[in-house]
Amino acid sequence: MTESQAFTHRPYWWADSQFEPDFFSQTDAPPEKADVVIVGAGYTGLSAAITLARAGRDVVVLDAERPGWGCSARNGGLLGPSFHKLGLKGLSQAYGKEKAGAIMRESLDCMRSLVTFIHEEKIDCKLTMRGRFRGAAHAKHYEKLARQNEQMQKELGLKTYMVSRADQYKEIGSEFYHGGAVYEEDGTLQPALLLQGLLAKATEAGARIYGGQNVLDISGSDGNLMVYTGVSVLRAKNVIVATNGYTPKHLKWFRRRLIPIRSAIISTEELSKSKILELSPKLRGHGDTHRLVFYYRPSPDGKRMVFGGRAESLKENPAQYVKHLGTAMRRIFPQLETTKIEYGWSGVVAYTFDHAPHVGKVEGVHYAMGYCGSGVGRAVYFGRKTALKVIGDPDGHTELDNLSFDSRPFYNGNPWFMPTMIRWHDFADRMGW
Ligand SMILES: Cc1cc2nc3c(=O)[nH]c(=O)nc-3n(C[C@H](O)[C@H](O)[C@H](O)COP(=O)(O)OP(=O)(O)OC[C@H]3O[C@@H](n4cnc5c(N)ncnc54)[C@H](O)[C@@H]3O)c2cc1C
Repeated sequence: MTESQAFTHRPYWWADSQFEPDFFSQTDAPPEKADVVIVGAGYTGLSAAITLARAGRDVVVLDAERPGWGCSARNGGLLGPSFHKLGLKGLSQAYGKEKAGAIMRESLDCMRSLVTFIHEEKIDCKLTMRGRFRGAAHAKHYEKLARQNEQMQKELGLKTYMVSRADQYKEIGSEFYHGGAVYEEDGTLQPALLLQGLLAKATEAGARIYGGQNVLDISGSDGNLMVYTGVSVLRAKNVIVATNGYTPKHLKWFRRRLIPIRSAIISTEELSKSKILELSPKLRGHGDTHRLVFYYRPSPDGKRMVFGGRAESLKENPAQYVKHLGTAMRRIFPQLETTKIEYGWSGVVAYTFDHAPHVGKVEGVHYAMGYCGSGVGRAVYFGRKTALKVIGDPDGHTELDNLSFDSRPFYNGNPWFMPTMIRWHDFADRMGW
Protein backbone atom coordinates (compact mmCIF):
# COMPACT_ATOMS: atom_id res chain seq x y z
CA MET A 1 0.00 0.00 0.00
CA THR A 2 1.37 3.44 -0.84
CA GLU A 3 0.64 6.75 0.80
CA SER A 4 -0.64 8.25 -2.44
CA GLN A 5 -4.11 7.95 -0.91
CA ALA A 6 -5.37 11.06 0.76
CA PHE A 7 -4.65 11.40 4.46
CA THR A 8 -5.85 14.15 6.73
CA HIS A 9 -3.03 16.60 7.32
CA ARG A 10 -4.00 17.44 10.90
CA PRO A 11 -3.23 15.85 14.27
CA TYR A 12 -5.45 12.88 14.97
CA TRP A 13 -5.60 14.18 18.57
CA TRP A 14 -7.55 17.25 17.46
CA ALA A 15 -10.22 15.16 15.76
CA ASP A 16 -10.30 12.78 18.72
CA SER A 17 -10.85 15.57 21.25
CA GLN A 18 -12.68 18.16 19.13
CA PHE A 19 -9.82 20.45 19.99
CA GLU A 20 -11.08 24.01 19.75
CA PRO A 21 -8.25 26.14 21.11
CA ASP A 22 -9.82 29.39 19.90
CA PHE A 23 -12.55 28.90 22.46
CA PHE A 24 -10.10 29.81 25.20
CA SER A 25 -8.51 32.79 23.44
CA GLN A 26 -9.58 36.29 24.25
CA THR A 27 -10.75 38.04 21.11
CA ASP A 28 -10.39 41.58 22.44
CA ALA A 29 -7.03 43.38 22.51
CA PRO A 30 -4.62 42.45 25.33
CA PRO A 31 -4.36 44.90 28.24
CA GLU A 32 -1.61 47.50 28.30
CA LYS A 33 -0.02 46.07 31.42
CA ALA A 34 0.21 42.92 33.50
CA ASP A 35 2.34 41.55 36.32
CA VAL A 36 3.60 38.77 34.09
CA VAL A 37 3.46 38.33 30.32
CA ILE A 38 4.07 34.79 29.10
CA VAL A 39 5.08 34.31 25.46
CA GLY A 40 3.80 30.96 24.13
CA ALA A 41 0.66 29.05 25.14
CA GLY A 42 1.89 25.46 25.17
CA TYR A 43 2.46 23.24 28.22
CA THR A 44 5.34 25.43 29.47
CA GLY A 45 3.52 28.74 29.23
CA LEU A 46 0.21 27.43 30.55
CA SER A 47 1.81 25.57 33.44
CA ALA A 48 3.61 28.79 34.44
CA ALA A 49 0.35 30.73 34.04
CA ILE A 50 -1.54 28.40 36.41
CA THR A 51 1.08 28.73 39.16
CA LEU A 52 1.35 32.51 38.79
CA ALA A 53 -2.37 33.22 38.55
CA ARG A 54 -3.03 31.03 41.60
CA ALA A 55 -0.39 33.03 43.46
CA GLY A 56 -2.43 36.16 42.75
CA ARG A 57 -0.41 37.55 39.83
CA ASP A 58 -2.12 39.29 36.95
CA VAL A 59 -1.07 37.04 34.05
CA VAL A 60 -1.37 37.54 30.30
CA VAL A 61 -0.38 34.74 27.91
CA LEU A 62 0.30 35.65 24.28
CA ASP A 63 0.54 33.17 21.44
CA ALA A 64 1.55 34.06 17.89
CA GLU A 65 -0.94 31.53 16.54
CA ARG A 66 -3.37 30.23 19.12
CA PRO A 67 -3.07 28.26 22.35
CA GLY A 68 -1.85 24.74 21.68
CA TRP A 69 -0.70 25.50 18.16
CA GLY A 70 2.83 24.27 18.91
CA CYS A 71 4.04 20.83 19.95
CA SER A 72 1.81 20.56 22.99
CA ALA A 73 -1.30 19.43 21.12
CA ARG A 74 0.65 17.52 18.44
CA ASN A 75 3.04 15.22 20.28
CA GLY A 76 3.04 11.45 20.67
CA GLY A 77 1.74 11.57 24.24
CA LEU A 78 4.50 9.30 25.55
CA LEU A 79 5.31 10.18 29.12
CA GLY A 80 8.62 9.08 30.57
CA PRO A 81 11.43 10.52 32.66
CA SER A 82 13.08 11.97 29.50
CA PHE A 83 16.52 11.33 30.89
CA HIS A 84 19.31 13.62 29.78
CA LYS A 85 20.67 12.33 26.48
CA LEU A 86 24.19 12.03 27.93
CA GLY A 87 23.01 9.49 30.52
CA LEU A 88 24.57 8.99 33.93
CA LYS A 89 27.99 8.27 32.47
CA GLY A 90 28.16 11.29 30.15
CA LEU A 91 26.70 13.61 32.79
CA SER A 92 29.19 12.38 35.39
CA GLN A 93 32.04 13.20 33.00
CA ALA A 94 30.60 16.66 32.37
CA TYR A 95 29.42 17.67 35.86
CA GLY A 96 30.64 15.09 38.37
CA LYS A 97 28.83 12.07 39.79
CA GLU A 98 26.73 13.84 42.39
CA LYS A 99 25.34 16.48 40.03
CA ALA A 100 24.74 13.80 37.37
CA GLY A 101 22.62 11.80 39.81
CA ALA A 102 20.68 14.90 40.82
CA ILE A 103 19.92 15.84 37.19
CA MET A 104 18.76 12.31 36.42
CA ARG A 105 16.58 12.16 39.56
CA GLU A 106 14.97 15.44 38.56
CA SER A 107 14.01 13.84 35.22
CA LEU A 108 12.05 11.27 37.21
CA ASP A 109 10.45 14.12 39.16
CA CYS A 110 9.28 15.71 35.87
CA MET A 111 7.33 12.57 35.02
CA ARG A 112 6.07 11.79 38.51
CA SER A 113 4.96 15.32 39.28
CA LEU A 114 2.95 15.49 36.04
CA VAL A 115 1.16 12.27 36.99
CA THR A 116 0.35 13.70 40.43
CA PHE A 117 -0.78 17.00 38.90
CA ILE A 118 -3.10 15.30 36.39
CA HIS A 119 -4.69 13.24 39.18
CA GLU A 120 -4.99 16.11 41.65
CA GLU A 121 -6.42 18.48 39.08
CA LYS A 122 -8.67 15.73 37.66
CA ILE A 123 -7.60 16.41 34.09
CA ASP A 124 -9.14 13.76 31.88
CA CYS A 125 -6.37 13.29 29.33
CA LYS A 126 -6.57 9.48 29.12
CA LEU A 127 -3.42 9.01 31.15
CA THR A 128 -2.50 5.35 31.55
CA MET A 129 0.67 4.19 33.26
CA ARG A 130 1.26 0.85 31.53
CA GLY A 131 4.97 1.30 30.93
CA ARG A 132 7.05 1.45 27.76
CA PHE A 133 8.94 -1.16 25.76
CA ARG A 134 12.15 0.09 24.18
CA GLY A 135 13.32 -2.27 21.45
CA ALA A 136 17.02 -2.89 20.75
CA ALA A 137 17.39 -2.07 17.06
CA HIS A 138 20.62 -4.12 16.82
CA ALA A 139 21.94 -7.07 18.79
CA LYS A 140 24.76 -5.07 20.39
CA HIS A 141 22.30 -2.39 21.51
CA TYR A 142 20.70 -4.99 23.78
CA GLU A 143 23.87 -5.44 25.85
CA LYS A 144 24.40 -1.69 26.09
CA LEU A 145 20.80 -1.14 27.16
CA ALA A 146 21.14 -3.85 29.80
CA ARG A 147 24.29 -2.21 31.25
CA GLN A 148 22.70 1.26 31.30
CA ASN A 149 19.54 -0.04 32.93
CA GLU A 150 21.40 -1.95 35.60
CA GLN A 151 23.21 1.25 36.56
CA MET A 152 19.98 3.27 36.59
CA GLN A 153 18.25 0.64 38.69
CA LYS A 154 21.09 0.73 41.18
CA GLU A 155 21.66 4.47 41.36
CA LEU A 156 18.21 5.91 40.70
CA GLY A 157 15.91 3.08 41.69
CA LEU A 158 14.48 3.06 38.15
CA LYS A 159 11.89 0.34 37.70
CA THR A 160 13.05 -1.43 34.57
CA TYR A 161 13.74 -4.95 33.32
CA MET A 162 15.16 -6.52 30.21
CA VAL A 163 13.18 -8.73 27.82
CA SER A 164 15.08 -11.19 25.64
CA ARG A 165 14.41 -11.58 21.93
CA ALA A 166 12.78 -14.95 22.63
CA ASP A 167 10.31 -13.29 25.01
CA GLN A 168 9.67 -10.06 23.18
CA TYR A 169 6.43 -11.37 21.63
CA LYS A 170 4.95 -10.65 25.09
CA GLU A 171 5.67 -6.94 24.50
CA ILE A 172 5.31 -6.40 20.77
CA GLY A 173 3.99 -8.22 17.72
CA SER A 174 7.22 -7.77 15.81
CA GLU A 175 10.40 -9.68 15.01
CA PHE A 176 12.19 -6.45 14.24
CA TYR A 177 13.98 -5.96 17.55
CA HIS A 178 16.70 -7.90 19.34
CA GLY A 179 14.92 -7.85 22.68
CA GLY A 180 14.62 -4.67 24.69
CA ALA A 181 13.84 -3.02 27.99
CA VAL A 182 10.60 -2.31 29.80
CA TYR A 183 10.28 0.93 31.78
CA GLU A 184 7.50 0.16 34.18
CA GLU A 185 6.69 3.70 35.31
CA ASP A 186 6.19 5.26 31.86
CA GLY A 187 2.76 6.17 30.55
CA THR A 188 0.77 7.54 27.65
CA LEU A 189 -1.79 10.31 27.43
CA GLN A 190 -3.84 12.23 24.88
CA PRO A 191 -1.77 15.40 24.38
CA ALA A 192 -4.53 17.70 23.12
CA LEU A 193 -6.68 16.79 26.13
CA LEU A 194 -3.79 17.65 28.47
CA LEU A 195 -3.42 20.97 26.66
CA GLN A 196 -7.13 21.67 26.99
CA GLY A 197 -6.99 20.76 30.68
CA LEU A 198 -4.13 23.22 31.25
CA LEU A 199 -5.95 25.92 29.27
CA ALA A 200 -9.06 25.44 31.36
CA LYS A 201 -7.11 25.55 34.65
CA ALA A 202 -5.16 28.65 33.60
CA THR A 203 -8.34 30.44 32.54
CA GLU A 204 -10.15 29.41 35.75
CA ALA A 205 -7.24 30.77 37.79
CA GLY A 206 -7.66 34.13 36.07
CA ALA A 207 -4.94 34.13 33.40
CA ARG A 208 -5.95 35.90 30.20
CA ILE A 209 -4.86 34.09 27.05
CA TYR A 210 -4.63 35.72 23.61
CA GLY A 211 -4.03 34.16 20.19
CA GLY A 212 -2.73 36.05 17.14
CA GLN A 213 -0.13 37.97 19.20
CA ASN A 214 3.29 37.42 17.66
CA VAL A 215 5.81 38.85 20.10
CA LEU A 216 8.38 40.70 18.00
CA ASP A 217 10.55 42.19 20.70
CA ILE A 218 11.03 42.46 24.45
CA SER A 219 12.93 45.41 25.86
CA GLY A 220 13.55 47.22 29.13
CA SER A 221 15.07 45.98 32.33
CA ASP A 222 14.28 43.62 35.19
CA GLY A 223 10.92 44.58 36.73
CA ASN A 224 10.04 47.02 33.93
CA LEU A 225 9.76 45.25 30.61
CA MET A 226 7.97 46.13 27.38
CA VAL A 227 6.54 43.43 25.11
CA TYR A 228 5.83 44.37 21.49
CA THR A 229 3.59 42.42 19.15
CA GLY A 230 2.61 43.66 15.72
CA VAL A 231 -0.65 44.95 17.17
CA SER A 232 -0.07 45.72 20.84
CA VAL A 233 2.44 46.91 23.44
CA LEU A 234 2.35 45.55 26.99
CA ARG A 235 4.25 46.66 30.06
CA ALA A 236 5.11 43.90 32.54
CA LYS A 237 7.12 43.39 35.69
CA ASN A 238 8.15 39.95 34.47
CA VAL A 239 8.20 38.11 31.15
CA ILE A 240 8.56 34.38 30.52
CA VAL A 241 9.54 33.14 27.06
CA ALA A 242 8.03 29.69 26.50
CA THR A 243 8.29 29.27 22.74
CA ASN A 244 10.54 26.15 22.52
CA GLY A 245 10.80 24.81 18.92
CA TYR A 246 8.66 27.64 17.57
CA THR A 247 11.04 30.35 18.81
CA PRO A 248 11.29 32.76 15.87
CA LYS A 249 14.49 34.27 14.49
CA HIS A 250 13.52 37.71 15.77
CA LEU A 251 13.83 36.46 19.38
CA LYS A 252 17.50 36.19 18.49
CA TRP A 253 19.16 35.41 21.83
CA PHE A 254 16.95 32.33 22.31
CA ARG A 255 16.86 31.15 18.72
CA ARG A 256 20.67 31.16 18.51
CA ARG A 257 20.73 28.60 21.34
CA LEU A 258 18.10 26.25 19.90
CA ILE A 259 18.22 23.76 17.05
CA PRO A 260 14.70 23.38 15.66
CA ILE A 261 13.93 19.89 14.33
CA ARG A 262 10.72 18.63 12.77
CA SER A 263 9.14 15.56 14.32
CA ALA A 264 6.22 13.86 12.58
CA ILE A 265 3.48 11.36 13.34
CA ILE A 266 1.06 9.19 11.40
CA SER A 267 -2.06 7.46 12.63
CA THR A 268 -3.51 4.34 11.04
CA GLU A 269 -7.14 3.83 10.25
CA GLU A 270 -9.17 2.05 12.93
CA LEU A 271 -7.98 -1.51 13.48
CA SER A 272 -9.68 -4.39 15.22
CA LYS A 273 -9.10 -4.83 18.94
CA SER A 274 -7.36 -8.14 18.26
CA LYS A 275 -4.99 -6.51 15.75
CA ILE A 276 -3.98 -3.81 18.23
CA LEU A 277 -3.40 -6.44 20.92
CA GLU A 278 -1.30 -8.40 18.46
CA LEU A 279 0.88 -5.31 17.84
CA SER A 280 1.07 -4.13 21.44
CA PRO A 281 -0.13 -6.91 23.77
CA LYS A 282 0.14 -4.76 26.91
CA LEU A 283 -0.97 -1.53 25.24
CA ARG A 284 2.25 0.11 26.36
CA GLY A 285 4.12 2.99 24.77
CA HIS A 286 6.96 1.95 22.45
CA GLY A 287 10.31 3.33 21.42
CA ASP A 288 13.64 1.99 20.26
CA THR A 289 17.39 2.48 20.35
CA HIS A 290 17.71 4.09 16.92
CA ARG A 291 19.52 7.43 16.94
CA LEU A 292 16.59 8.66 14.84
CA VAL A 293 14.18 7.14 17.27
CA PHE A 294 10.75 5.79 16.34
CA TYR A 295 8.10 6.21 19.03
CA TYR A 296 4.62 4.73 18.86
CA ARG A 297 1.62 3.67 20.90
CA PRO A 298 -1.95 2.58 20.54
CA SER A 299 -4.46 5.44 20.61
CA PRO A 300 -6.29 5.82 23.95
CA ASP A 301 -9.41 4.10 22.57
CA GLY A 302 -7.22 1.15 21.53
CA LYS A 303 -8.27 1.40 17.89
CA ARG A 304 -5.28 2.92 16.06
CA MET A 305 -1.52 2.75 15.98
CA VAL A 306 0.00 6.21 16.32
CA PHE A 307 3.58 6.14 15.01
CA GLY A 308 6.18 8.93 15.05
CA GLY A 309 9.75 9.76 14.14
CA ARG A 310 11.99 12.53 12.85
CA ALA A 311 11.14 14.22 9.55
CA GLU A 312 13.99 14.61 7.07
CA SER A 313 13.89 18.38 6.90
CA LEU A 314 12.67 21.35 8.86
CA LYS A 315 10.42 22.26 5.96
CA GLU A 316 6.85 21.00 6.28
CA ASN A 317 6.60 18.18 3.71
CA PRO A 318 3.77 15.87 4.75
CA ALA A 319 3.94 13.65 1.66
CA GLN A 320 7.62 12.91 2.43
CA TYR A 321 7.28 12.16 6.14
CA VAL A 322 4.06 10.18 5.84
CA LYS A 323 5.75 7.95 3.25
CA HIS A 324 8.91 7.63 5.39
CA LEU A 325 6.99 6.81 8.58
CA GLY A 326 4.63 4.44 6.74
CA THR A 327 7.64 2.49 5.45
CA ALA A 328 9.27 2.42 8.89
CA MET A 329 6.04 1.32 10.60
CA ARG A 330 5.59 -1.54 8.12
CA ARG A 331 9.21 -2.61 8.56
CA ILE A 332 8.45 -3.07 12.25
CA PHE A 333 4.91 -4.37 11.71
CA PRO A 334 4.71 -6.13 8.31
CA GLN A 335 1.17 -7.11 9.27
CA LEU A 336 0.16 -3.46 8.58
CA GLU A 337 1.14 -3.73 4.90
CA THR A 338 -2.35 -2.96 3.63
CA THR A 339 -3.42 -0.71 6.50
CA LYS A 340 -4.41 2.79 5.49
CA ILE A 341 -2.80 5.83 7.05
CA GLU A 342 -5.54 8.28 7.93
CA TYR A 343 -3.67 11.14 9.59
CA GLY A 344 -0.23 12.68 9.17
CA TRP A 345 1.08 15.78 10.93
CA SER A 346 4.21 17.28 12.40
CA GLY A 347 5.58 19.88 14.78
CA VAL A 348 8.91 21.50 15.60
CA VAL A 349 10.89 20.49 18.68
CA ALA A 350 13.97 22.28 20.04
CA TYR A 351 17.32 20.63 20.66
CA THR A 352 20.21 22.35 22.40
CA PHE A 353 23.95 22.08 21.91
CA ASP A 354 24.47 20.34 25.27
CA HIS A 355 21.39 18.09 24.91
CA ALA A 356 19.83 19.61 28.05
CA PRO A 357 16.71 21.70 28.63
CA HIS A 358 17.44 25.22 29.86
CA VAL A 359 15.73 27.32 32.48
CA GLY A 360 16.99 30.74 33.43
CA LYS A 361 16.86 34.49 33.10
CA VAL A 362 18.54 36.82 30.63
CA GLU A 363 18.29 40.63 30.71
CA GLY A 364 15.36 40.37 33.10
CA VAL A 365 13.47 37.83 30.93
CA HIS A 366 12.79 34.33 32.26
CA TYR A 367 12.75 31.31 29.96
CA ALA A 368 12.24 27.53 29.92
CA MET A 369 12.92 25.60 26.69
CA GLY A 370 15.09 23.12 24.80
CA TYR A 371 13.40 19.87 25.79
CA CYS A 372 15.19 17.94 23.02
CA GLY A 373 12.07 16.20 21.75
CA SER A 374 10.93 14.90 25.15
CA GLY A 375 8.88 17.67 26.64
CA VAL A 376 5.56 16.40 27.95
CA GLY A 377 6.75 15.98 31.54
CA ARG A 378 9.57 18.51 31.27
CA ALA A 379 7.49 21.41 29.90
CA VAL A 380 4.85 21.27 32.63
CA TYR A 381 7.54 20.86 35.31
CA PHE A 382 9.91 23.60 34.12
CA GLY A 383 6.98 25.92 33.38
CA ARG A 384 5.97 25.62 37.04
CA LYS A 385 9.55 26.03 38.25
CA THR A 386 9.95 29.19 36.18
CA ALA A 387 6.76 30.62 37.66
CA LEU A 388 8.08 29.88 41.17
CA LYS A 389 11.30 31.70 40.29
CA VAL A 390 9.26 34.74 39.20
CA ILE A 391 7.48 34.70 42.56
CA GLY A 392 10.79 34.29 44.38
CA ASP A 393 9.80 30.93 45.87
CA PRO A 394 12.88 28.80 46.71
CA ASP A 395 11.02 25.76 45.31
CA GLY A 396 11.77 27.28 41.90
CA HIS A 397 15.25 25.79 42.20
CA THR A 398 16.08 23.15 39.60
CA GLU A 399 19.20 21.07 39.02
CA LEU A 400 19.58 22.81 35.66
CA ASP A 401 19.84 26.29 37.19
CA ASN A 402 23.51 26.89 36.61
CA LEU A 403 23.96 25.11 33.31
CA SER A 404 25.35 27.56 30.82
CA PHE A 405 23.01 27.97 27.80
CA ASP A 406 25.46 28.16 24.92
CA SER A 407 25.25 28.76 21.22
CA ARG A 408 28.03 28.13 18.69
CA PRO A 409 30.08 30.72 16.79
CA PHE A 410 28.31 31.90 13.61
CA TYR A 411 25.11 29.98 14.43
CA ASN A 412 22.13 32.26 13.86
CA GLY A 413 19.34 29.77 14.47
CA ASN A 414 19.30 28.35 10.96
CA PRO A 415 20.06 24.63 11.37
CA TRP A 416 21.57 24.26 7.87
CA PHE A 417 23.65 21.29 9.08
CA MET A 418 20.66 19.16 10.14
CA PRO A 419 19.85 17.41 6.83
CA THR A 420 23.47 16.17 6.71
CA MET A 421 23.34 15.17 10.41
CA ILE A 422 20.07 13.33 9.87
CA ARG A 423 21.51 11.44 6.87
CA TRP A 424 24.56 10.57 8.99
CA HIS A 425 22.43 9.28 11.87
CA ASP A 426 20.29 7.34 9.41
CA PHE A 427 23.44 5.71 8.01
CA ALA A 428 24.71 4.97 11.55
CA ASP A 429 21.32 3.44 12.41
CA ARG A 430 21.52 1.15 9.40
CA MET A 431 25.05 0.10 10.40
CA GLY A 432 24.00 -0.47 14.02
CA TRP A 433 26.45 2.07 15.46
C1 LIG B 1 5.43 15.32 16.56
C2 LIG B 1 5.92 15.48 17.97
C3 LIG B 1 5.92 14.40 18.83
C4 LIG B 1 6.36 14.54 20.15
N1 LIG B 1 6.22 13.49 20.99
C5 LIG B 1 6.56 13.62 22.29
C6 LIG B 1 6.32 12.56 23.18
O1 LIG B 1 5.73 11.53 22.84
N2 LIG B 1 6.72 12.71 24.47
C7 LIG B 1 7.34 13.86 24.90
O2 LIG B 1 7.72 13.94 26.08
N3 LIG B 1 7.52 14.91 24.07
C8 LIG B 1 7.13 14.83 22.78
N4 LIG B 1 7.26 15.90 21.93
C9 LIG B 1 7.82 17.17 22.47
C10 LIG B 1 6.79 17.97 23.30
O3 LIG B 1 5.55 18.00 22.64
C11 LIG B 1 7.32 19.40 23.50
O4 LIG B 1 8.62 19.35 24.05
C12 LIG B 1 6.43 20.24 24.40
O5 LIG B 1 5.09 20.18 23.99
C13 LIG B 1 6.93 21.69 24.40
O6 LIG B 1 5.96 22.51 25.02
P1 LIG B 1 6.14 24.07 25.02
O7 LIG B 1 4.97 24.65 25.70
O8 LIG B 1 7.48 24.43 25.57
O9 LIG B 1 6.19 24.50 23.49
P2 LIG B 1 5.04 24.44 22.38
O10 LIG B 1 3.92 23.56 22.78
O11 LIG B 1 5.72 24.14 21.09
O12 LIG B 1 4.45 25.91 22.38
C14 LIG B 1 5.20 27.03 21.96
C15 LIG B 1 4.19 28.11 21.56
O13 LIG B 1 4.91 29.33 21.39
C16 LIG B 1 4.23 30.08 20.41
N5 LIG B 1 5.15 31.13 19.91
C17 LIG B 1 6.31 30.96 19.24
N6 LIG B 1 6.87 32.16 18.98
C18 LIG B 1 6.04 33.11 19.49
C19 LIG B 1 6.07 34.53 19.52
N7 LIG B 1 7.08 35.22 18.96
N8 LIG B 1 5.05 35.19 20.11
C20 LIG B 1 4.03 34.51 20.70
N9 LIG B 1 3.96 33.15 20.68
C21 LIG B 1 4.95 32.45 20.09
C22 LIG B 1 3.86 29.04 19.37
O14 LIG B 1 2.80 29.48 18.53
C23 LIG B 1 3.47 27.86 20.24
O15 LIG B 1 2.08 27.78 20.46
C24 LIG B 1 6.85 15.80 20.59
C25 LIG B 1 6.84 16.88 19.73
C26 LIG B 1 6.38 16.74 18.43
C27 LIG B 1 6.37 17.91 17.50
